[in-house]
Amino acid sequence: MIRVGTLEREARDLLNRLGVADAAMSGGARRVASPITGETIAHVHEAGPDDCARAIAAAHAAFLVWRQEPAPRRGELVRLLGEELRAAKADLGLLVTLEAGKTLSEGLGEVQEMIDICDYAVGLSRQLFGLTIASERPDHRMMETWHPLGVVGVISAFNFPVAVWSWNAALALVCGDPVVWKPSEKTPLTALAVQALFERAATRFGDAPAGLSSVLVGGREVGEALVAHPLVRLVSATGSTAMGRAVGPALAARFARALLELGGNNAAIACPSADLDLTLRGVAFAAMGTAGQRCTTLRRLFLHDSVYEAFLPRLKAAYASVRIGDPRDGDTLVGPLIDPAALEGMERALADARDQGGVVHGGERAEGPGEGIYVRPALVEMPGQTPVVLRETFAPILYVMRYSALEEAVALNNAAPQGLSSAIFTNDVREAERFCSATGSDCGIANVNIGPSGAEIGGAFGGEKETGGGRESGSDSWKAYMRRATNTVNYGRTLPLAQGVKFDI
Ligand code: NAD
Repeated sequence: MIRVGTLEREARDLLNRLGVADAAMSGGARRVASPITGETIAHVHEAGPDDCARAIAAAHAAFLVWRQEPAPRRGELVRLLGEELRAAKADLGLLVTLEAGKTLSEGLGEVQEMIDICDYAVGLSRQLFGLTIASERPDHRMMETWHPLGVVGVISAFNFPVAVWSWNAALALVCGDPVVWKPSEKTPLTALAVQALFERAATRFGDAPAGLSSVLVGGREVGEALVAHPLVRLVSATGSTAMGRAVGPALAARFARALLELGGNNAAIACPSADLDLTLRGVAFAAMGTAGQRCTTLRRLFLHDSVYEAFLPRLKAAYASVRIGDPRDGDTLVGPLIDPAALEGMERALADARDQGGVVHGGERAEGPGEGIYVRPALVEMPGQTPVVLRETFAPILYVMRYSALEEAVALNNAAPQGLSSAIFTNDVREAERFCSATGSDCGIANVNIGPSGAEIGGAFGGEKETGGGRESGSDSWKAYMRRATNTVNYGRTLPLAQGVKFDI
């Protein structure tokens, strides 16, 4: 049952409990609406150019101190942040639901992801090691050492309003880097709440320098200020490919590092041997979860000729029966779209799909309260990969196509301009291994018998081509946040030159 007219109070209570009501209810110019009903839940102040400059200068001053703190001690701050997140998980998870419209289970999952990456970063704080490398010269030792990089700017998207910050910030902080965060203009409240939790952790830590973490609320101009500032050494930017096209070249022009996490157009292949029960669950979650508003959402499904007739009716039934509604209700699986522009994008894509030979099932407005935008996820049978299939529409639309040979399906998977995530459903080990091999999927993520969405923090997350090439979170992603030095030490009494070069004076 959707409750209308109560969200502002609910948000205020939550923000009070999270200790951030003053900043979040400051009556500033930016209106914050909840996608659940479209109600205004807050007005927040935006950062102006002076605020950006001040935050970056403070972060740089913090860097000069923080880089000298031993990494395991830096990890202690992140451990305390993880504790604060654990204590606030229920409230912060619900705030994610109010502000971004994700189901409560997903809101809580997002906070769990933040806790997980904090744990990961604490361990990492004792493992920031480099290699010792065989030197070709006698009495020489060659090694690499890793050092803090400088101020890290984080620009994040609305659909993971807090987890993306934590993937970056937990690693950056143990690596010795301060973080200046520009959250999505659609989700500033969760960012302010996370900053309050960070400040609590910093107070308990004792002597963390001021400016180690800050939030700049605002639109693209604030992001542009971060991108342009010479003291920001790395910008980790998550959002659309259009945003990356502006941010990437601007960073390259001043030789700053870019970590780009951009759009996806993710595919799955269901093979003749696929377990269709498992495939159905994997496809349904990946395509309809988060109302199709994940970068890893499944958007293209290739069904082998031999499973098409058996599988499609089951998928259609799942689409027709999925529970749509208030994301705070425990039995809801599909919540609202973020805003009217998302609906326009979806309607435009469905019209284009029809023009390009598609047969659309679903996709119509579903009942919803107030100005909340609820839609039935759309399943579209397409004759092939027409232009609309190859563009990312950030809404719950799944294009379904047939294939007859695995090579053809892999080529179709790889034909998208984006290269984030992909999956194959098969019980044939040759097909599974082919998909994960050099001649298989060209994406940053290639899964077997799992849909393309819902990654764990332990792996490196990111994708190729128009997805931007960045990697964050697990594996060796931490290296992006550090400066690598190769040190060669001569402990002998002569000076032999590399490659046998002679220069005797
Ligand atoms: P968006 O591109 O509209 O905005 C993302 C962020 O970039 C916002 O904070 C915005 O203010 C900022 N921004 C926009 N233009 C900018 C510019 N020129 N300079 C600096 N900052 C700028 O994206 P969105 O609608 O919030 O999110 C949806 C998009 O994000 C989808 O394309 C989705 O695939 C992508 N996404 C990717 C990942 C990933 O990890 N690859 C994760 C989440 C979302």
